[in-house]
Amino acid sequence: MIRQAFGILGAAVLGAAAFFMPAAAQERGNEPVRPFAVADGVWWVGASDVAAYLIQSNKGLILIDGGYATTAAQILNNIRRLGFDPRQVKIILNSHAHFDHAAGIAQLKAETGAKVLVSAEDGKLMARGGRGDFFLGDRYPYTPVKPDGSIRDGQKVKLGERTLTAHLTAGHTRGCTTWTFPVTVAGQVRQAMILCSNSVLPGYRLVGQESYPGIAADYEKSYRFWRTAPCEVFLGSHAQFFGAMEKAKSGEADAFVDPEGCRAYFEKGYAAFRAELAKQQAATGR
Ligand SMILES: [Zn+2]
Repeated sequence: MIRQAFGILGAAVLGAAAFFMPAAAQERGNEPVRPFAVADGVWWVGASDVAAYLIQSNKGLILIDGGYATTAAQILNNIRRLGFDPRQVKIILNSHAHFDHAAGIAQLKAETGAKVLVSAEDGKLMARGGRGDFFLGDRYPYTPVKPDGSIRDGQKVKLGERTLTAHLTAGHTRGCTTWTFPVTVAGQVRQAMILCSNSVLPGYRLVGQESYPGIAADYEKSYRFWRTAPCEVFLGSHAQFFGAMEKAKSGEADAFVDPEGCRAYFEKGYAAFRAELAKQQAATGR
């Protein structure tokens, strides 16, 4: 769980020295990989760990997440490898506005002409190019993108026959967005979930003077959703959240159907969150 929860960003913020690492060294999980299907008409088009998903509909494509700035070219390549023209992408959505998921969106928006729809809180962070983050401050800036519209909790995003539902699952960021939508796998309709991120970065303050007011309550609310929401095809903003590369290697048609894995992931994550909360409460005497 530690490695999963504190993956990419965590590794970069563990020590002060890490802040001064060259940008390339911080781009963990950014090795190019070939696209692969996770359900009918739904593909991983991201890098080796940072996600991007392409969803096909009869009215065009939906893209979720843009990786690092340098991931954008990989994503565009993967879209072409699947036989699509990037200009078929009509809507770009995101999991959250940290640099490892949002820095590529400026280029992707420019090259696809798609509309970018983001939660209000993470939309503000994206419009500031990642600056003024409640914890990361100005350390990981990227080309700002002004979203074309904002997404509220429970909002449905439709394109052709596809309908995705946004769930604001704040904590990791103020507007962290988990997406759910029905998919078909091996002839069966299944509920897919793309997890924003449940990780508590090392240094997040959950008690006393919280990293942002209400962060602990937000995590509690988010876990209430994650622990009960239908999650048959478990996906997320990092491959390591759900073992994407191992599942892809198995070659099974239903490799990504993993309701038990999803449930176990959130139970373990919730226990880790509660333990961190208790540790901080003990340390501050609250
Ligand atoms: Zn993040």
